[in-house]
Amino acid sequence: MKKYIVDSFESEGHFGPYGGRYAPEMLIPALVALEKAYREAQQDSSFVAEFEKLLATYSGRPTPLYFAENLTRKLGGARIYLKQEGLGQTGSHKINNAIGQALLARRMGKKRLIAETGAGQHGLATATVAARFGFECEIFMGELDMKRQRPNVFWMEQLGAKVTPVLYGTRTLKDAVNESIKNWIENLETTHLLVGSVVSAHPYPTIVRDFQSVIGREIRDQIMEEEGRLPDCLIACVGGGSNSLGMFYPFLEDEGIEMVGVEAAGLGIESGKHSARFQGGKKGIVEGYKSYFLQDDDGQTLTTHSVAAGLDYAGIGPEHAWLHDLGRIEYTHATDQEALEALKLLLKTEGLIPALESAHAVAEAVKRSPGMGSDQIIVINLSGRGDKDIFIVAEVLKDKAWLEFLKAKVKEGYGDQ
Ligand SMILES: *Cc1c(COP(=O)(O)O)cnc(C)c1O
Repeated sequence: MKKYIVDSFESEGHFGPYGGRYAPEMLIPALVALEKAYREAQQDSSFVAEFEKLLATYSGRPTPLYFAENLTRKLGGARIYLKQEGLGQTGSHKINNAIGQALLARRMGKKRLIAETGAGQHGLATATVAARFGFECEIFMGELDMKRQRPNVFWMEQLGAKVTPVLYGTRTLKDAVNESIKNWIENLETTHLLVGSVVSAHPYPTIVRDFQSVIGREIRDQIMEEEGRLPDCLIACVGGGSNSLGMFYPFLEDEGIEMVGVEAAGLGIESGKHSARFQGGKKGIVEGYKSYFLQDDDGQTLTTHSVAAGLDYAGIGPEHAWLHDLGRIEYTHATDQEALEALKLLLKTEGLIPALESAHAVAEAVKRSPGMGSDQIIVINLSGRGDKDIFIVAEVLKDKAWLEFLKAKVKEGYGDQ
């Protein structure tokens, strides 16, 4: 009898009291059809083989598990390994799920992919697979986010996607979510909504978790090869929760393994400017699923903050909510400042540029490792690489030369060429 793994198809998408399918009536048939198509695809060896082949040849899997010798020495505790998801196509784990859902959409005869995106990383992964598989593609993005994430908007458009600004509300991710649902309802016949994390109504949290579980399965094989045993501790950052659950899921029933999810504490929990759902978040039903959300007394989701755009989200996947309540996964948090320090540390010790999101996981290892024995093993999921963050990091580090570079570019007058 499994203790932590539920058959979410039998439980109709519930993880304990969380999850479920709280969607508009008009969407239910589409969600049921998606569930059916997914369950059939899972049993179809040609579907699984094509998925695995694309992960290998298009995205470069398996991603390496790297022994961070210098970081290990510097922190003076456990042996630290880094799972390098940032080496995949588009620079993060998001491509695993995007490829899987694109194959599923094609199998269902859909011609069009839509997605909402906040930071743009999921939009980029969706636009990428749309180009690869020949789907029409539309990405919904809050107008404010479009301004903040110009490089991703540029690439999505070059990949052939239409990026539609959402002009109402806070003009950020939650408004883009509403808009994509609306658009899906209007185009159910032709369109697949490609959800980017382990959130939303059933069956999405299960589908996304399964596609991302390749991360944890590879770690199992790779650490056995390297060390001849399983790790003591797994650490990953938690936005919606897909890279972390993808890493943890294949280890859930291994009781001896500690798992730590790191939420974004932003400017500090006390400041109220953070995205740590398990620090003051309330149980509720938002965007089709039941979980913990940062919300006010009226159930309105609050504006969240993190220097890492991918962690800047008011909700968390329902399976995380359940594993949190069971105590199977420990949830901690790291501030913007701690993540930046961890980023700098990894740059200097290992020559690696982690995404700001992933730097939150590194920050937790910095706190935890010195108290551990040299015979113990930590694996950190580096969910993405940090090239995408150059504008944000240069700004917070107040890099003068970068500012001069931007000014000079403006002066050169792009528009006049
Ligand atoms: C989107 C993103 C995240 C957060 O999403 P999860 O679903 O929690 O994994 C983390 N890291 C990177 C690099 C991302 O792009």
